[in-house]
Amino acid sequence: MAHQAGLPQFAIEARGLAKTYAASKKMPAKQALKGVDLAIPRGSIFGLLGPNGAGKSTFINILAGLVNKTSGSARIWDLDIDVNPRQARAAIGVVPQEINMDPFFTPRESLDLMAGFYGVPAAERRTDEILDALGLGDKKDAYVRQLSGGMKRRLMVAKALVHTPPILILDEPTAGVDVELRRQLWEYVRKLNAEGVTVVLTTHYLEEAQEMCDTIAIINRGEVIACEATSSLLRRLNYRTLVVRPETELASPPEGLSGLDLEMRKDGSFAITYRTGETSIEKLIARLHEAGIGIGDLSTEEPDLEDVFLALTAA
Ligand code: ADP
Ligand code: MG
Repeated sequence: MAHQAGLPQFAIEARGLAKTYAASKKMPAKQALKGVDLAIPRGSIFGLLGPNGAGKSTFINILAGLVNKTSGSARIWDLDIDVNPRQARAAIGVVPQEINMDPFFTPRESLDLMAGFYGVPAAERRTDEILDALGLGDKKDAYVRQLSGGMKRRLMVAKALVHTPPILILDEPTAGVDVELRRQLWEYVRKLNAEGVTVVLTTHYLEEAQEMCDTIAIINRGEVIACEATSSLLRRLNYRTLVVRPETELASPPEGLSGLDLEMRKDGSFAITYRTGETSIEKLIARLHEAGIGIGDLSTEEPDLEDVFLALTAA
């Protein structure tokens, strides 16, 4: 990406970011981040992908100023969060994982409060524009407690945008969200990105990261184990598994299928794992015919997040 004058190359940069939560009555001590280095290019839709408990929210909450880091450093829009905490935080809008809002304010009031918090002058506020864009135009003066779950989540996004931050961070934005809202949300996020907003989203769904993000970092147990263009990450996962249930159960791995990566399963089926560029389902079926194996049932399996980890952590 070309480096434009005055604009940072990276929207967010973390160096050796670590967090150990102290033990509390509710939870034991936990090393949630173990020295995370991450550089998020300006202009990207960046996915932070990892299973529950990987440390995604901890990372986001340190940037948002909600969690104190134990060590390391972070820069937001080239501003160090220790040196310029207020300015650094003004450069991000964070939509937290949990919906938390005051039930006694209307969406309009919520946004005005937020704008006041960020010191946005009344004349520069975009309250109506933002609420309209998020499909809350006819709910501006309703009480928050009268909004559906999906509307509340959209209001959270709206609140994160009142100060027109160049970076929008969404922490598990589609958890508990229906298909239609998800589609709307992604459409809006893409529009913001097209207008120049850098978007960071966390998810534990490979599919979601794959669909939305141009770059994906994978975090597991507090460590980043990969960070690369989505296309190159997916190239590493160019394999599928064909599961075959033979018409008559086989006592041992079928002969005549040598050279294939084949595994017998407990239910009497066997699984053939193959690279998509190297062979195809048609060719594999032809080989089964040649080997005289009648096919009772066929299905395919695609790699999931678990497989990504295995692929990435394999020596
Ligand atoms: P993710 O968002 O990827 O699901 P989190 O950042 O929420 O992961 O949590 C990372 C780890 O830190 C988890 O093991 C979680 O239980 C632990 N953790 C999170 N918050 C606290 C806390 N306040 N006190 C102790 N442990 C915590
Ligand atoms: Mg989380």
